Amino acid sequence: MNIEQSKIPQATAKRLPLYYRFLKNLHSSGKQRVSSAELSDAVKVDSATIRRDFSYFGALGKKGYGYNVNYLLSFFRKTLDQDEVTKVCLIGVGNLGTAFLHYNFTKNNNTVISIAYDVDKDKIGTEIGGVPVFDLDHLEETFADDVTVAILTVPAPVAQSITDRLIAKGIKGILNFTPARLNVPDEIRIHHIDLAVELQSLVYFLKHYPNEEK
Ligand code: ATP
Repeated sequence: MNIEQSKIPQATAKRLPLYYRFLKNLHSSGKQRVSSAELSDAVKVDSATIRRDFSYFGALGKKGYGYNVNYLLSFFRKTLDQDEVTKVCLIGVGNLGTAFLHYNFTKNNNTVISIAYDVDKDKIGTEIGGVPVFDLDHLEETFADDVTVAILTVPAPVAQSITDRLIAKGIKGILNFTPARLNVPDEIRIHHIDLAVELQSLVYFLKHYPNEEK
């Protein structure tokens, strides 16, 4: 993240990757401009919000013209640090972890899982989706300084101790797929994604609010 981005509200910042992905597709299909209505339809964010978001980026749409796709793309690339690749490590090469290693994140943005860790002797030393799996017991010796983000896909009971070790190695952000609530210092950013809870909540809303407008 660069300095400019610190002025952007968090809710806006969260929508950036969404905008970025859509604009990249537009760009590769040869489109030069886009209206907030078109964007709204594609990313499912109302157009007033889009206009407000874009005003933070210094992108002022012109009536009857819309937004310049190239301008927006270069802004997003700079703001999201897309010119730089962020290296990510993945801890826990189970079912979910393996799926992530096979999933090509670089299709949509410049993050790459460069190393994985596990404690299972059958997995250590193998390569999955082109990513080498190392022994977690040797994390301290093998961890690279340029890895700043970790994905946690380990069993919940070991999540906190692994988190502490990752932070000691300089990790700045954690995408936590375990149900464990992790304690971390203020400067470390954690995003929790509990798939079971998300699914349950979706089913709950379908059952109890079937006809409600979003
Ligand atoms: P699998 O079917 O491969 O066991 P899973 O996702 O159902 O996968 P989990 O028990 O959630 O199984 O474990 C996820 C992964 O985390 C496994 O590969 C396991 O070897 C690994 N793991 C378990 N304990 C630790 C630990 N302390 N540190 C790192 N990885 C661990």
